[in-house]
Amino acid sequence: MKHSNSFSRPDKRATDQLRSIQFETGIAPHALGSVLVSFGATRIICAASVDNRVPGWMRAQGVEGGWMTAEYSMLPYSTLERKTRDISRGKSDGRTIEIQRLIGRALRAVFDLKKFSGKTLWLDCDVLQADGGTRTASITGAYVAAQIAIGKLMDGGQLTENPFSNSVAAVSVGIYQDTPVLDLNYLEDKDASVDANIVMTGDDQYVEVQSSGEESTFSHKQLEELLTLGTKGIHQITLLQERAIREGLS
Ligand code: UDP
Repeated sequence: MKHSNSFSRPDKRATDQLRSIQFETGIAPHALGSVLVSFGATRIICAASVDNRVPGWMRAQGVEGGWMTAEYSMLPYSTLERKTRDISRGKSDGRTIEIQRLIGRALRAVFDLKKFSGKTLWLDCDVLQADGGTRTASITGAYVAAQIAIGKLMDGGQLTENPFSNSVAAVSVGIYQDTPVLDLNYLEDKDASVDANIVMTGDDQYVEVQSSGEESTFSHKQLEELLTLGTKGIHQITLLQERAIREGLS
């Protein structure tokens, strides 16, 4: 991997090193499943709540099965400069809509809605502290919260089969100072020439790869390097998710 002797990440991590990742389950006791996920200084509350009905459009169109959807928001004090609440501005910004759709798509890719008949799973991701990679941490935490909620429904006899066919996790990768790096923090993200978000299942299948050159371009080889770094990160994250789900259900 190309990097000069003077290369150093702002927090001194190795190029293929994740930030410290923690899951604190049960953080929001009124939600059926919840977790405070941290990727370094990025911290997000992910909560899964179950509604025993499906959206009106599904009822109206007679669509079978259940539904799962996500909402994402940054708390006003999660950023260095206070961010006005969407509700105070009267609308969600484009970034918020893009991120919550990404979270919903990522989770639905590994979830069989037909096995969730008549129910809606709400995934709420609220950013407590933003330091880069909030969308990827949200997906990673939402999966943990969702599996805890599903486990509780199964324990309570409200579901007989787990609708999840696989796990899902996400991580960011990018090219920072000409060097491919894993799991960018804000300082790196701000200066990265290429920024990518990788969403993968626990058995190495891609769910979504979003990769863009920020005022720059990237080669096939660089993209390969980024995917390799991302896959390595996802393997570690998947193990941590499994442990958190076990803890959350114990
Ligand atoms: N950010 C911010 N205010 C905003 C949007 C982003 O402070 O309104 C910061 C925040 O630290 C975020 C980072 O910029 O994590 C990168 O934002 P991006 O839109 O790339 O999303 P993310 O990397 O969080 O998924």
